[in-house]
Amino acid sequence: MLDRVFGTRRTRQIQRLLRNGKVTILCLVLTIVVLRGNLGAGKFGTPEQDFKEIRETFYQYRGKRTEPRRVLEEIQTETTSSEGNTNNYAEFDINKLFVDEEDDVKKDPNLPYSIGPKISDWDEQRSEWLKQNPNFPNFVNENKPRVLLVTGSSPKPCENPVGDHYLLKSIKNKIDYCRVHGIEIFYNMALLDAEMAGFWAKLPLIRKLLLSHPEVEFLWWMDSDAMFTDMAFEVPWERYKDRNLVLHGWNEMVYDEKNWIGLNTGSFLLRNCQWSLDLLDVWAPMGPKGKIRTEAGKLLTRELKDRPVFEADDQSAMVWILASQKDKWANKVYLENHYYLHGYWGILVDKYEEMIASYHPGLGDHRWPLVTHFVGCKPCGKFGDYPVERCLKQMDRAFNFGDNQILQMYGFTHKSLASRRVKRTRNDTNNPLEVKDELGLLHPAYKAVKVSSSA
Ligand code: UDP
Ligand code: MN
Repeated sequence: MLDRVFGTRRTRQIQRLLRNGKVTILCLVLTIVVLRGNLGAGKFGTPEQDFKEIRETFYQYRGKRTEPRRVLEEIQTETTSSEGNTNNYAEFDINKLFVDEEDDVKKDPNLPYSIGPKISDWDEQRSEWLKQNPNFPNFVNENKPRVLLVTGSSPKPCENPVGDHYLLKSIKNKIDYCRVHGIEIFYNMALLDAEMAGFWAKLPLIRKLLLSHPEVEFLWWMDSDAMFTDMAFEVPWERYKDRNLVLHGWNEMVYDEKNWIGLNTGSFLLRNCQWSLDLLDVWAPMGPKGKIRTEAGKLLTRELKDRPVFEADDQSAMVWILASQKDKWANKVYLENHYYLHGYWGILVDKYEEMIASYHPGLGDHRWPLVTHFVGCKPCGKFGDYPVERCLKQMDRAFNFGDNQILQMYGFTHKSLASRRVKRTRNDTNNPLEVKDELGLLHPAYKAVKVSSSA
């Protein structure tokens, strides 16, 4: 049987070769005929001369054809000897390309940190701008604010080769959600403020974007290790019409317990207003790298429930601000737990199959979580807090779970949550516009109309 298979294949190869050969010879003959035709039109002399021309043209052409390869070989030998370069990407050390010797910028540690010049009339400045720029409204309809989703990662490649692949999957996942929901997206890879490296990098970035985009009503920060797992869920924007900050969390855990995991800063919504700038001003001072961050970390561990000993992080700082200055901030903060604006991966990823069996996208909660956030996995770093195999396997499952909702529009689905391969869920038709995607995500314009008509 196998012989027969190989035998057939060999015969087919020979037939193909012969066919290709025939085509080449035919082309050659045609070229000569055409060239002869052109040359014979009187531009040159006798047929013999013509033939000489043709022969020269032909050999010239043949010579050229081999040239690129020779050039390549020359470059190869040359660079291997002089620069020790290689054509093998796996062998090349990317650190050779980096012109910045170190990440740190020396700064006087006695200077107080500032996230930017104090602004106190942003609401007035912004509303004046909006009045003068009616073509850039901050609401797309009565209930739906203009939203900018912001995410990002370090300017350097990940510390391990697969990390960047997961960043790519993660941004593809976010692009899909944003496209379906009419949300704009910004991916940042620049460290805008060297002192605010790591999880603090988002603060200067957020401030800059709020001030540069007065047309944006809500900024949605999302970590690079968080993925959308419900592509159909629409954020209940009208619920937040009187709020400026929305985080996943619980009032009791934050305001009563002061628990450092009472809220999560991996995915949150921040309104573009003076209140938010004021919040950033009190949020940022614990961020500067070095002594400040270390000392602030000690304070946070002392003040907050169950917090391990480590440098100050943006999440603990937020819990501490809300708990210690409740009167000042709480009335404009919404701690959301009706759906997963952030969902801890550990309690979700093993239930995806059950969700598929019992529920449908669009729910956003434990039945079909809006976001699965791989807290502590650190796929872009050297070490995480969990086994790498579990993290990467579950990140693939979360990606495929979300991606299936995108692929269904086009009549495909992953073979399983573990598989990167896809299979068809319906056949192509000659009436493509009559195909209905189950979730109604294919033409988001309809969705916007639906949202506005239900207002
Ligand atoms: N981040 C960034 N630039 C950096 C490092 C981190 O923008 O140089 C962002 C990135 O989106 C990352 C987030 O900060 O997801 C927070 O870090 P991480 O997700 O590793 O923290 P965890 O959620 O595990 O606490
Ligand atoms: Mn994260």
